[in-house]
Amino acid sequence: MDLNGNAVYELNKKDVLALRIKHVGSPTALYFRHDPLMIVKGEGQYLIDEKGNRYLDCINNVAHVGHSHPKVTEACNEQMSKLCTNSRYLHNTHVSLAERLANTFPNPLDVCFFMNSGSEANDLALTLAAAYSGGTDVITMDSAYHGHVRSCLEISPYKWRKPEDHKDYVHVVSAPDVYRGKYAGSENPGLDYANELNQKIEIMKDKNRKLSAFIMESLQSCGGQIIPPEGYMREAFRYVRAAGGLCIADEVQVGFGRVGSHYWAFQLQGPDVIPDIVTVGKPMGNGHPVSAVITTKEIADSLTNKLPSYFNTFGGNPVSCTIANTVMDIIENENLMENASSVGKYLLEKFELLKKKHKIIGDVRGVGLFIGVELVRDEKTKEPATEEAEVMYNRMRDRYILVSLDGPFNNVMKFKPPMCFTYDNADQLAEVLDDTLSQISC
Ligand code: PMP
Repeated sequence: MDLNGNAVYELNKKDVLALRIKHVGSPTALYFRHDPLMIVKGEGQYLIDEKGNRYLDCINNVAHVGHSHPKVTEACNEQMSKLCTNSRYLHNTHVSLAERLANTFPNPLDVCFFMNSGSEANDLALTLAAAYSGGTDVITMDSAYHGHVRSCLEISPYKWRKPEDHKDYVHVVSAPDVYRGKYAGSENPGLDYANELNQKIEIMKDKNRKLSAFIMESLQSCGGQIIPPEGYMREAFRYVRAAGGLCIADEVQVGFGRVGSHYWAFQLQGPDVIPDIVTVGKPMGNGHPVSAVITTKEIADSLTNKLPSYFNTFGGNPVSCTIANTVMDIIENENLMENASSVGKYLLEKFELLKKKHKIIGDVRGVGLFIGVELVRDEKTKEPATEEAEVMYNRMRDRYILVSLDGPFNNVMKFKPPMCFTYDNADQLAEVLDDTLSQISC
């Protein structure tokens, strides 16, 4: 039934599930495995199932400007009806997107490459870093996720299961978690975590290994919504550069104004903190596959000595570029960064109030519309409330609110909704969360 009670969705959920089990690779992720959702429509911050139920989407940072935004659809249709070919031809959409993206970054980050996914962007970032630095080794963060292709899996401890998944050329530093991490409670955690990174570099040098890159998510998402403490990136980048490596900021999850105050999350660490390479994706196409690597001319040019040319069949095609340009227009025209700042602050305040009421909330953290609520069984020991979080996540779904769980113990509720999330949505979310936590606590 649609919202008006008409039987427009003739899809049979049971058959869709059966076909999926039969023909789709079993490791393919699925939410709510015990009773998966079948979503047939998206509208702004809502997802609608085959029965017409509307779910408030608090997860989908890909539908950045709102699901099925009519301006994105219109721009896509118009360009698709004219031309969609590869970037071996000159096209105005390609260069205008490159210029526009470059204008959002501090100097000297003003050269772009385009591709189709966050994984591809990180893969190219690693290739560029190796070409420029001549190094082999990569420093990554505990619980980091950088993508599903092999080069990215090898630097994503989030996905490792066996000891052999940890390759010799990869060195893991602690995530700069100020709630649960190694230096939680320290006076200057930013410095402490950066010093730990430097110790890794020293160990690496003793083994005669040469650093190529340090890669970090500007705000760690799969790792549990971690906001690095002040000074961390500045110090860490200093150590990495002193060892001849490049600094890669993975903004695939958190870029394009999600943090509200800045277009890019690394900018939260201060105007003097500038990565050598930035990777962006997910929100860039509002659901359409498009991503980019932004770097300096010097670093981009270094690839010329290694590869005859960079060619990506779909990357930078006129349709993808038109869509990305339109998404950037909407962020600006609909004041979505201001909205992320104000609604995000309001939501954080609501969650802080809930923390006072529910002992199970150990920590509330976030910036803009990127927020984490960590559930614990004991506020002193911080024992993760993993099972409780799972119950909560299912009960929220029963109340038509979609959240996700993540972090090393799967006990952090992640909130990263479309940027058109409203004060009313925040009220509804906080109210349902309050109810749900009350039921779980007793
Ligand atoms: N980097 C980060 C931080 C991500 O969260 C993801 C996807 N979750 C990726 C890279 C990979 O992006 P994609 O799935 O588009 O390949």
